[in-house]
Amino acid sequence: MLHMLQEVFIPMSDLRFVVMRCAACGTEVNLDIELDKFQNVQRTSATPVNCPSCTIAFDSLMVSGIDSYRKFYKEVLSQKASVGFRVKPEVASQPPKS
Ligand SMILES: [Zn+2]
Repeated sequence: MLHMLQEVFIPMSDLRFVVMRCAACGTEVNLDIELDKFQNVQRTSATPVNCPSCTIAFDSLMVSGIDSYRKFYKEVLSQKASVGFRVKPEVASQPPKS
């Protein structure tokens, strides 16, 4: 029997959590993109600029990219627009890359 893999559609609302990985020590920081503040970090952005473990600065392009994604995510959901991402079957069936 032939099994056909189907594309997976991921709605924007399911892409709420972002993982930042420190290039120096490998610590992963999980962000809830709907929150405007990262834990108790006091700054204008909700995205941490330093690794909470080794304090090395995250790449500024990564930080600004996540800030931009947060803005886009909120705009899309506030408009109740139907936006999502279609994942190819061969990608959807693979385990996540580390
Ligand atoms: Zn680190």
